[in-house]
Amino acid sequence: MTFMRSFMLLTFGLLSMHNVLAVEVTALPEELTVPGGIALVPTNTMASRAYYDNDAVLLAEFEGQQYAVVGIPLSAALGQHTITLQTPNGQEIVKHFQVSDKEYVEQRLTITNTRQVNPNNDDMVRINRESAEMREAFSSWDDSLQPVFQMRPPVDGIRSSSFGLRRFFNDQPRAPHSGMDIAADEGTPIFAPAPGVIRATGNYFFNGNTIILDHGHGLITLYCHMNTIDVEPGMRVETGEQIGKVGQTGRVTGPHLHWSVNLNNVRVDPALFLTE
Ligand SMILES: [Zn+2]
Repeated sequence: MTFMRSFMLLTFGLLSMHNVLAVEVTALPEELTVPGGIALVPTNTMASRAYYDNDAVLLAEFEGQQYAVVGIPLSAALGQHTITLQTPNGQEIVKHFQVSDKEYVEQRLTITNTRQVNPNNDDMVRINRESAEMREAFSSWDDSLQPVFQMRPPVDGIRSSSFGLRRFFNDQPRAPHSGMDIAADEGTPIFAPAPGVIRATGNYFFNGNTIILDHGHGLITLYCHMNTIDVEPGMRVETGEQIGKVGQTGRVTGPHLHWSVNLNNVRVDPALFLTE
C-alpha cells in the first residue's frame, strides 16, 4: 500500500513536471506573418512547451489542432524563422515559418515639451527604471489564466492604423510605434478587452498613467496616457469591466488611448485581436 502510494506520487510528480501547457481556445487571432504580426504554426503533435528567440511561446488548442501562436517583432528579419517545441517525453522538434515584408510608413510628430524628446539626466534615470519595470511585466508568464484571443475594443473612439509607424519626434528618429492609438475625449471610459489580472500600474515618463493587464501564457496588454486608473495590481477583471479613463498624460499630442498587445514578449498589431 505504502509502496503503491509512493509509486503513484512519483509518477504524478513526473507527469506534472512535463505538464502540457497548451490552452483550449474558441478562436485564434488573425494570422499575419510580417514584422509586428503573428504566425500560427501547427505543431502536428501535442507539444508541452514552445520557444522562439528564447522566450516561451503560447500553445493553443483550436478545433483539435495545436498551434504555436508566435508574436513576430517589428525588428524581425525577412525570411525563415525557427521555433523549438518540447514534447511531454522530452523530445525537441524544430518548426519554421516565413516572415514577409510589410511597408510601415513614416509619422512625424511635434512635441512641445522638448524634455519628452530629449530627456535630461534625471529623466533618463527615471526612464531606465520604468523600462525595467515594464520589461519585467511584459515577460510575465501566468499558467493559471486562460487567454482569450477575440477582444473587444478597449474604448469607443477613432481607431487609427498607427501600429508599426516609423516615428520621428521633432524630426528625430525614435522607436517604431508599438501599439494602436484610439482617439477619444478625455474621460471616456476604458474597458478590459478580455479577462485577466492587473499585473502593474504606474505613472511613467513617456506612457503617462499606465496599466499592464495579464491575460495568461504571455498574452499581455498595455494601456497608456490615461486620465485615471480605476484598478490596482493583483485585481482580476472581466471583459467589459472599466479599468480607467482616456487622458493625455505622458508624451502625447492630444487625448487618446495607446493600446499595445504583447505575445512572447513581443509587441504585435492589436488589430489582429479585434473581431468585426
Ligand atoms: Zn501610441
